[in-house]
Amino acid sequence: MAENNAYQNALAQYDKAVAHLKLKRGIAEYLRYPKRELTVNFPVKLDGGDVKIFTGYRVHHSTTLGPTKGGIRFHHDVTLDEVRALAMWMTWKCSLMGLPYGGAKGGVIVDPKTLSANELETLTRRYATEISILMNPKGDVPAPDVGTTPQIMAWIMDTYSMHQGFSLPAVVTGKPVEIGGSLGRIEATGRGVMFAAREAMKQINLPIENATVAVQGFGNVGSIAARAAHEMEMKVVAVTDVSGGVYNPNGLDIPALIGRFNDNRSVVGFPSADSISNDELLALKVDVLIPAALENQITSANASAVKCRVLAEGANGPTTPEADDILNDKGIFIIPDILCNGGGVVVSYLEWVQDLQSFFWEEDEINKQLERHVVNAFKRVLGEAQQRNIDNRTAAQVLAIRRVAEALMIRGIYP
Ligand code: NAD
Repeated sequence: MAENNAYQNALAQYDKAVAHLKLKRGIAEYLRYPKRELTVNFPVKLDGGDVKIFTGYRVHHSTTLGPTKGGIRFHHDVTLDEVRALAMWMTWKCSLMGLPYGGAKGGVIVDPKTLSANELETLTRRYATEISILMNPKGDVPAPDVGTTPQIMAWIMDTYSMHQGFSLPAVVTGKPVEIGGSLGRIEATGRGVMFAAREAMKQINLPIENATVAVQGFGNVGSIAARAAHEMEMKVVAVTDVSGGVYNPNGLDIPALIGRFNDNRSVVGFPSADSISNDELLALKVDVLIPAALENQITSANASAVKCRVLAEGANGPTTPEADDILNDKGIFIIPDILCNGGGVVVSYLEWVQDLQSFFWEEDEINKQLERHVVNAFKRVLGEAQQRNIDNRTAAQVLAIRRVAEALMIRGIYP
């Protein structure tokens, strides 16, 4: 098995969890596969007049618990297998967080940094049109992921609404607040990561004040998690992005780093810090390590070098099954992705509910609900892990898969 195939990794995790459940063979088999997959090849007129063909995907893994939910990724390495894995993880994440959603994911093979603003808008609107045979407010609701932003969500909402003839903000979440987005959505995933990290630290009696933190990836999830850690009086000592990273053992000035990032689009060269590579960051002796970039960052090749106490998976699928075994043997407390970054989809759900009822809540209310969902899910995962004497990831998947399988049995196999 190729260790860097995210879908194979998702299946390996699934099979490991299913071994602890007494599912009928057909049900276990059914939930291994995506329900439906759409591949779209579509033209985009570039600023210079040329036409370029792009490929995108939208995969629905399961609709058992409700409409499908899952982000859209714009990245040059997107593959159908990656989107399948991310869709499957969304099913388990929504289930674990107690939401009435199935899982989906979308992606376009594109490096958005190579496009002008006009080209990015055109590509987004055409992709939204292509996937609108699957996407709709009652059936499939996308959200941001790597390489996509609130502005891109706004273009998707506008495109879909133009085709319908009236505004349907609930077709997508992670929108700007001005057009039906939720307060607290931009921050939700990173905040949720730190709620989960805080619970893990309490669990292993690790003091929060001055705890050292390293963050890989400084996008939506990584930068907000770093800011939340800073606000909780932890010491963020290292941060990397795709171009490199910065390290200061006494702690980085995170608000200043965010300010610089907003101007330069990179953390590299931040004053009063040394430079650090991604490999070095992952091997730092820190209390909390937060991978918040892409899949397969911690593998059998580097897992034995990882020295954190808590691994808080901001990214989806950052740790391969082979690496999992190594980290578990080392006694590292892993907060698995579907729990750790589940705060994002919780607030996406709250955004969708607000849009459907056209009634909006204060940020305080949103943040309380976010914290409640993450802390409750954390406690359930820990309880399941302790009761069955299994690792946290398997426990999270056992809980998530069981809820979907039970719903499937109650609904019955159609026809
Ligand atoms: P983003 O595009 O905002 O940021 C990604 C960051 O990762 C960027 O800073 C980029 O420079 C960095 N990066 C990319 N490749 C890297 C590498 N090889 N080494 C170091 N850094 C690298 O994306 P995001 O929304 O923050 O998503 C990050 C991860 O979190 C993904 O796995 C995504 O699926 C997951 N996630 C996102 C959300 C959300 O609400 N946005 C919710 C749940 C999970």
